[in-house]
Amino acid sequence: MLRSFFIFLSKNSLLQRLVSEWGIAWKAASRFVAGTTINDAINCVRDQNIKGFNCTLDHLGESTTTQDESIRATKEIVELIEKIQENKIRSNISIKLTQIGLSLGEELCEKNLQQILKIASSINNFVRIDMEDTSYTDKTINMYLKMRNLGFENTGLVVQAYLYRTEKDAHDLLKIRTPFRLVKGAYKEPADLAYPRKRDVDLNFDLLSKMMIDTTVKLGSPVIREDGLFPPLPAIGSHDPKRLEYAKAYADSVDLPKKAIEFQMLYGIRRDLQEMYLKQGYPVRIYVPYGTHWYPYFMRRLAERPENVLFFLSNLFKK
Ligand SMILES: Cc1cc2nc3c(=O)[nH]c(=O)nc-3n(C[C@H](O)[C@H](O)[C@H](O)COP(=O)(O)OP(=O)(O)OC[C@H]3O[C@@H](n4cnc5c(N)ncnc54)[C@H](O)[C@@H]3O)c2cc1C
Repeated sequence: MLRSFFIFLSKNSLLQRLVSEWGIAWKAASRFVAGTTINDAINCVRDQNIKGFNCTLDHLGESTTTQDESIRATKEIVELIEKIQENKIRSNISIKLTQIGLSLGEELCEKNLQQILKIASSINNFVRIDMEDTSYTDKTINMYLKMRNLGFENTGLVVQAYLYRTEKDAHDLLKIRTPFRLVKGAYKEPADLAYPRKRDVDLNFDLLSKMMIDTTVKLGSPVIREDGLFPPLPAIGSHDPKRLEYAKAYADSVDLPKKAIEFQMLYGIRRDLQEMYLKQGYPVRIYVPYGTHWYPYFMRRLAERPENVLFFLSNLFKK
């Protein structure tokens, strides 16, 4: 109920304008967001790198409504890729296709995406395409396939365990060695498309982890690239200890080397787990979002955990 409410709020543009200018809201959001500028992001990644973590940077933004906005977003992402190289930090990037025009037209999005992938490829970096709500699942997968057909190998996808369709999608995409980040799924989806019960989502998550690990073993267990920019094929994106432990135990049981799988977690969430897996010798990648468009991202984090709402409310009454 609360989850649906916050996901609904995440799409309200009037509220977005009001909340984004509200200092107290930013104070609460900054637990999950590295800052508003590119320098904030670079500094945050540098700190994470020193601790031993790899990162993926997300210049926050989604659902752009004009062509100009999508072109501006593309330029900002290109600038980010260049800054990553200039500053020699260990980070690739994550992007949302609606940020670069997917809802305005596939041609526009394709052109912008190619520009991003070309720059990333020229400096040997990797671009993860985040998955959005189900109105974009087919379009996102198709765009990814187009890029692979054009010869871009420096990209991968996200799959969501809450969708019934994901097992089949994963099966098809693993055939072409798609690097996946497996997540539970952060949007509100109807019961005819997504498992309504958490237990079923969790079971599907474990099944998908197993599929990814099996494929990796069949491919000879390729490991993460030494510079940390190119992830291994299976990336387990979760803070749920049971899901993480399942993947770890299964990977162990089939002798997958530690460096052939990575754990991905969001900046500011379950730092204890982030450190634990790092200490155990696994690559851990922190998803670091930054930018002024933090509102929908923040609302989805509130939706995931009611305690975050209490934390936010308690801040309202603190001086
Ligand atoms: C690296 C990464 C990238 C992601 N990319 C996408 C994407 O492209 N598309 C998409 O739909 N979703 C994405 N997600 C979000 C994902 O779908 C889930 O909504 C989110 O990770 C919460 O699920 P969970 O697996 O952590 O398990 P849950 O069962 O939700 O949580 C397990 C435990 O994690 C902690 N936790 C989880 N969420 C929070 C929170 N917000 N605040 C504080 N503690 C929390 C709590 O301790 C909780 O008990 C991403 C997640 C990660 C980690």
